[in-house]
Amino acid sequence: MGMTVDWDNPMANCNRNHTPYTILKDGWLSIDPERKSQVDYCRARTYEYINPEKSRPRSWFNLVEKMQIDQDIVKTECYSKDGKIVDQWLHTQIYEGNPSTVEVDKSLGNGTNFRPDIVMIVLDSVSSTQARRSLPRTLSYLETQMGGMHFHHLNKVGENTSPNAYAMLLGWRIYSANRKAVNAKDLRPDHDKICSGWRDKDPVIFREYEKIGIPKFLLHWSCEASHDLPNPLYHTDQDYLNFFQKNKPILDNAFLFVMGDHGPRFGTPSKAELNKREINNPLLHISLPKFLRNHTQLIKNLQENSIRLLTQFDVHATLVDLLKFAPESNFTDFSEFDVMEGNENNGTSIFRPFPEKFQKRTCQTIPVNAAYCLCEYKKENIDDAMLIEKLSKVALEKLNGYLRENGVSGSCETLTLDKIKSVKSFIPVEKTNLYEIHFIVKESKGEFRVLLKKDSNGVFHREGF
Ligand SMILES: [Zn+2]
Repeated sequence: MGMTVDWDNPMANCNRNHTPYTILKDGWLSIDPERKSQVDYCRARTYEYINPEKSRPRSWFNLVEKMQIDQDIVKTECYSKDGKIVDQWLHTQIYEGNPSTVEVDKSLGNGTNFRPDIVMIVLDSVSSTQARRSLPRTLSYLETQMGGMHFHHLNKVGENTSPNAYAMLLGWRIYSANRKAVNAKDLRPDHDKICSGWRDKDPVIFREYEKIGIPKFLLHWSCEASHDLPNPLYHTDQDYLNFFQKNKPILDNAFLFVMGDHGPRFGTPSKAELNKREINNPLLHISLPKFLRNHTQLIKNLQENSIRLLTQFDVHATLVDLLKFAPESNFTDFSEFDVMEGNENNGTSIFRPFPEKFQKRTCQTIPVNAAYCLCEYKKENIDDAMLIEKLSKVALEKLNGYLRENGVSGSCETLTLDKIKSVKSFIPVEKTNLYEIHFIVKESKGEFRVLLKKDSNGVFHREGF
């Protein structure tokens, strides 16, 4: 707490005084008049957007007059009289060229109400406690200067990005929730054709906002700094801090969500014991627009909900609330209200007191695989060698069976046991009949935790990895 760590700066040897020979300002590209005498000519080319991972370079053109640039990215090169490149620069802008494909629906009737913007910054694979370690200055700034609040127990609803993104942005459950281990009923997916096309006609939350025609909805999903390894996130703290400081005047009129989708899944720290919690507990930090930072009722609701067990379905319900219901009172009334009435995913607005039926948040009541649930149950180590052998055999059978069921056994080796790390029972085992085995396999050195439940015939069933 309170300690500042100065990490090695990868830009330490860069010439920070260098400025580009070309200027991109308000969509117009030109040669810097002060540099004109130093160059023979400059050329430029734009990059046409294809998809988030691909762009196509267009032809080079000579930069003589000011040119209007109709793409997000333009590269420039300037040459001296003896033909040497003296400057290269990649300029970026957000080109607002494509009109929205969503028609504003005037019948929604909320068009005249005052509406703050919605800004969602998703840091892929970043957990709640990891963010406190890696982004201390950023979170502290949000909390002290921008009415930010940390929500400690957001539970992921699926293993990786897509089930969490679907829950957050559409309120859809795309995989089943296997909950027998905690004596709750399994839930089937409520939507399963998830890779069959674009989601343009579905109620994706930001398109629903677009229909209203007023607020800005920004969704930024960043992967590079945190997806493959947790450590690089430390280096981004200062940059995020700068970003929030610089944009504070704009963000003072926004609901700002800084969040993860799930916790860290790769890298050495993913093997640490702490990761068992962090992997299931994505970051959720919400900052309020300035006019709401002293709203007594709202602050009380948020404080109470900040220590509740939440899911991405609650984040979705909150966005629905800010779209449809909170504007009805011009954001003055945050009393109890069930914004997603009758939904099996139990999503409810974080900005309001939870309706009674949602008050009890446990592994039995959230639509999440028992193996991902954040609640911790008492367990004890097992030392019965016969039982350990039986459990490890069943766990490996189930694991190899899972590979077969998913049609990948042809490309994967049959997994065999390398080392057992722990075998535990959930106490009292006579009641729970539930076991957790943690082991390493020889073939990939992969580590697995498997939940096994014994039925009344003494047969073990897998209840989650
Ligand atoms: Zn992800």
